[in-house]
Amino acid sequence: MTEVFTGSFTQQEPIPEEGIEAAVAVMRSGRLHRYNTAPGEIAETVLLEQEFAAQVGARYCLAVASGGYAMATALRAIGVKPGDKVLTNAFTLAPVPGAIAAVGAEPIFVGVTDQLVIDLDDLKAKANQADVLLLSHMRGHLVDMEALMALCDSAGITVIEDCAHTMGAAWKDVPSGTQGKVGCYSCQTYKHVNAGEGGLLVTDDAEVAARAVMLSGSYMMYEKHLAGPPKEAFEAIRFVTPNISGRMDNLRAAILRPQLRNLDAQRERWNGRYRAVEAGLRDTPGLTVIERPAEETIVGSSIQFLLKGWTASSVQDVLARCLKRGVELKWFGAAEPVGFTSRYDSWRYVDAPPMPASDAVLAGIMDMRVPLTLSLDECALIARIIKAEVGAIFQSA
Ligand SMILES: *Cc1c(COP(=O)(O)O)cnc(C)c1O
Repeated sequence: MTEVFTGSFTQQEPIPEEGIEAAVAVMRSGRLHRYNTAPGEIAETVLLEQEFAAQVGARYCLAVASGGYAMATALRAIGVKPGDKVLTNAFTLAPVPGAIAAVGAEPIFVGVTDQLVIDLDDLKAKANQADVLLLSHMRGHLVDMEALMALCDSAGITVIEDCAHTMGAAWKDVPSGTQGKVGCYSCQTYKHVNAGEGGLLVTDDAEVAARAVMLSGSYMMYEKHLAGPPKEAFEAIRFVTPNISGRMDNLRAAILRPQLRNLDAQRERWNGRYRAVEAGLRDTPGLTVIERPAEETIVGSSIQFLLKGWTASSVQDVLARCLKRGVELKWFGAAEPVGFTSRYDSWRYVDAPPMPASDAVLAGIMDMRVPLTLSLDECALIARIIKAEVGAIFQSA
């Protein structure tokens, strides 16, 4: 009998009851805007910022409208100007070069290794071309952060971290997003907490934090930002920083607070599912599992594997055969962008020279979401289906 998976790769869990109740209370109050507080009241948005700053060990936190907005705000806040060059990952998703384009700057892509992290040799080779790196921890794969920070510090490169896939993750127990100048997170439905849309930005730098608060649209109400810098930090910048509205509202913050409290437990649940798929994929001829370094604390909300050296038509056969059995794999090697997958050479507003070594890696990257609504049995079933179909095509090739 041919096994088929009939579940969904895009179904999230419901918002926790506690979050629903908090959201209803905000709606009953009518005070959805973050600066609309009753006397003595601390807005849900402010509480969220205080709690997230404490959770990752950052001095300041700002809640905003999206992860993409957080990244563009971080770039503006550190002083990136139109025409500046910004280094970033060749293997990432569209909002990352998009954030660079949003400030009028130009991405310079840095290659990807077969461990799916930024290529430090390529970064070193390009270090003299820009003084900012927007580092995308794409699909949760953390590069050796000590080596990266040492390289960037010695080259005078300021690092902004895109932690859309590493909220709750760590390198040597240091929470992801706290080693660069600014850490940016997404609270969009398909990330690690779900507010529909939303973003968080953390930094230890008072001036950067002050600029980010002003940029996000605080008018002159920055003193209400209890997770923001002291008011002296605003003196020098408050008249010269434009308002580019992108605040978070209290409704989203109310939904997020209980989810953040539960993040460590969710990580363990994600990782149980990740390890179940990974175990099922091991020892499949033609398929390479990505070995995760011991220094990395992962959040296994998606899994990648490589079909190294496969032809495009063989990869497409695997995709089609898996899909027939209900297993939706994404492929980063396709010539045209499909759904959310896209490659550095599909962002044609960027002048990107070819990167043959990265192209060879990208051509083999298979990607699958691991939603928490999957059971462990379903994870094992999905792995059996992939293993069988990869095996069938590999043998006939
Ligand atoms: C989702 C995502 C973002 C930002 O997401 P928003 O949808 O703007 O919240 C940034 N980087 C990567 C790699 C992402 O997948």
